[in-house]
Amino acid sequence: VPRVRFAPSPTGYLHLGGLRTALYNYLFSKSRGGVFILRIEDTDQTRKVEGSVNALINDLEWAGIECNEGPSKGGNYGPYIQSERLNIYREYIEKLLDNGSAYKCFCTERRLNILRRDAIRSQRIPKYDNKCRSLSHADIKEKMNAGTPYCIRFKLSSDCSSFEDLIYGGIAYDVSLNEGDPVLMKSDGYPTYHFANVVDDYLMGITHVLRGVEWQISTTKHLLIYRAFGWTPPQFGHLPLIVNADGTKLSKRQSDVKVEDYRTKGIYPLALVNYITLSGGGFEHVVGEGIRLKTMDELAEEFQIDKITSHPSRLNPDLLEECNRLELKRHLKDDKLTKSLIINLQNLIKNKYSNENLNVSEEHVKSVLLWATSRITRIEELVTPKFAFLWILPSNENIEVDRNLFEKLIDNLENLERFEQDSIKDNLRHFSAENDVKFPVLMKMIRSVLSGLNEGPSVAEMMQLLGKYQSLERIKAVIR
Ligand code: GLU
Repeated sequence: VPRVRFAPSPTGYLHLGGLRTALYNYLFSKSRGGVFILRIEDTDQTRKVEGSVNALINDLEWAGIECNEGPSKGGNYGPYIQSERLNIYREYIEKLLDNGSAYKCFCTERRLNILRRDAIRSQRIPKYDNKCRSLSHADIKEKMNAGTPYCIRFKLSSDCSSFEDLIYGGIAYDVSLNEGDPVLMKSDGYPTYHFANVVDDYLMGITHVLRGVEWQISTTKHLLIYRAFGWTPPQFGHLPLIVNADGTKLSKRQSDVKVEDYRTKGIYPLALVNYITLSGGGFEHVVGEGIRLKTMDELAEEFQIDKITSHPSRLNPDLLEECNRLELKRHLKDDKLTKSLIINLQNLIKNKYSNENLNVSEEHVKSVLLWATSRITRIEELVTPKFAFLWILPSNENIEVDRNLFEKLIDNLENLERFEQDSIKDNLRHFSAENDVKFPVLMKMIRSVLSGLNEGPSVAEMMQLLGKYQSLERIKAVIR
């Protein structure tokens, strides 16, 4: 059975790249009847952000990505939070010390800083010079007896300097040429990412590691650690970088990387998930002839890891809008989902226009929603100034109208039986001809009276949306 994992560090919030990694692991396991594990990699206590584990779990749940094993789910391979596994790492580091693959390093921070400084001065890449590899038993004993603090480093070599990436193909990287011996265990007894990651992937029975391409350069180092233990490594596949439509890097500062921000903006989970798969590859989406939203089950069924390409995944924000519109339409076809949409929108309106006399009956809200689906992608748009007239009275203080003409207009509309867009429009056309007022001029006046706007939906459309009573009330109000 394939076993995969998503292994985020709780250093902030789930961003789009993390969601993509989680999603592809999830789909991979689902498509092969496998197991998807959530593991929290929190061994760097200095970078830990309070509350981020819960936020992460919430975001994943919201997106519909459910793990089979994890901190809140449990499972036979736990604990699933690395800071609760410290005794395990201590046990395993002993094995590497015993078989000579790792060694104690007593170098002080001061010495390491000097090495770094000298390297930078002479324009070399700073790396540890592996000095403590060659300490004698006696040296080590003496330092231990003196209680000198130490970390544990791994002996790099040129073995395992290439691997077959499931997505990128052959990758060659001799880490020993580029780096000094890496720390596996810090002097405070915490493992580093590299060590804990390998130990846990092994102990948790991980068969495939799918992760962001930023980790590709670490993979040969990880392979060396597997080899030092005598373990068979999993297969590795690295997911390409996600970039903006113009190829530029997504920055953490942009609000469009946080999953939580999409959610509060009113993006639907399935829309976001489809959006990611549309740019991330792995599917035979047909873009261009109008997209169709796929359910999680369909996505899992159609996912093919060899369809993921290795060039950066460009986001196309228009597709997100389109996906969300489709999802909104789907909600409006379902009675239960429509009900909750109405409630959500009513709440949005009440929060936005708290002191006003609101027009938020269920019937009105529903008819607006049905009308709006081809005009909006998120219901949040319905509480922007453009649509405010649907819920609140426009301010009409400065409007001056021809009293006589408007009295006639009121009479005229009162007598209109069927109050719908087409009949309203016909009626207004006749009215403008009969009263010798130019149609566009009349429309401009009425629009302003109804909405306080100079542009927007057609006047007849506005009237139908507002209904006969409300439309007439607004028109009457300006001549009162
Ligand atoms: N903890 C690493 C991260 O935050 C996990 C990398 C991996 O999947 O191996 O991305």
